[in-house]
Amino acid sequence: MAAAIPATLIPGDGIGTEVSGAAVEVLEALGAPFAWETHKAGQGGIDACGDPLPPETLASIRKTRLALKGPLATPIGGGYRSSNVRLREEFELYANLRPARTLIPGGRYEKIDIVLVRENLEGLYVGFEKYIPIGDDDHAVAIASGVNTRAGARRAAEFAFDYAVKNGRKKVTIVHKANVLKALTGLFLDTARDVAKKYEGRVAVEDRIVDACAMQLVLNPWQYDMIVTTNLFGDILSDLIAGLVGGLGMAPAGNIGKDAAIFEAVHGSAPDIAGKGVANPLALMLSAAMMLDHVGHQDKALRLRTAIDQVLCEDKIRTGDLGGKATTKEFTQAVVKRLK
Ligand code: NAD
Repeated sequence: MAAAIPATLIPGDGIGTEVSGAAVEVLEALGAPFAWETHKAGQGGIDACGDPLPPETLASIRKTRLALKGPLATPIGGGYRSSNVRLREEFELYANLRPARTLIPGGRYEKIDIVLVRENLEGLYVGFEKYIPIGDDDHAVAIASGVNTRAGARRAAEFAFDYAVKNGRKKVTIVHKANVLKALTGLFLDTARDVAKKYEGRVAVEDRIVDACAMQLVLNPWQYDMIVTTNLFGDILSDLIAGLVGGLGMAPAGNIGKDAAIFEAVHGSAPDIAGKGVANPLALMLSAAMMLDHVGHQDKALRLRTAIDQVLCEDKIRTGDLGGKATTKEFTQAVVKRLK
């Protein structure tokens, strides 16, 4: 038997318990050797102990350095800061890995297979913001600053090029807006180009301005293999790419740093369908497959992806968001059956 791998499980809010239960069930069916420590965060942390990121949860991840996380609810506009963003900062998870491939043929785009790496800790996304009052208007002016560092750009780019080499990817496109944000995204472009030189002959490199990239992703997405970009552009483009393969319900993600990695579905806690047993657990199952890749169990990851493909395309068992009738449990059982 493979040695047990300690890992933190954060089931999450809303549909979190349902989809994480499903992911754990398929991992067990695969014989994945994770030894789970289950902890709360988000609204679940507030309800349990008044803290959206309880110290025990952080201590567990600090120890295991590996987590599978369900969606966490974040209040919009006010309230507590996003636990997702805090987790990325706390563990310096500097690379956000977002693979997207066509799972169900017959959609608007066929045979999409694009991996986006987003710098996860810097840029305009950090939210250094303030208002300046004028007269009796407290919010007359809003200012936001972005911060990119050479070191931050370098490690994100190195992660992307390393990933390309290890996974047989042929080309990385650096996406920026260096024609306008010359310092902020120019630094990212220059640094990523510099990193690319080390991979010459192994991985091809090109660059694109973000607006042109968005248009080309819609007109001809097949020209893209891997994309590496800054935090905010990555946030937007990765959702665009998820749209090419059928939406956020299918999109997995990994937040990866030097000392820890957290895998999660891209979708949120879906309060509108929570507790109804109809949530699609696919994205978190695919995140679990990424987690298996990360710990060196690529064979099991492949088995899981193959079983999911078979359930979707041969058994034609799908949840409601994909036009099917299966409940979360029925879909999960179908994957378990294929695995066995
Ligand atoms: P959402 O992704 O939760 O829901 C958007 C729509 O997609 C809803 O109609 C929902 O029912 C549907 N949907 C989402 N996941 C689904 C699934 N697995 N199966 C079937 N349908 C699914 O986005 P939202 O409504 O904007 O956000 C709800 C909450 O989730 C907010 O508090 C937000 O902050 C949080 N959120 C968390 C994360 C995260 O933890 N990574 C990501 C995004 C949003």
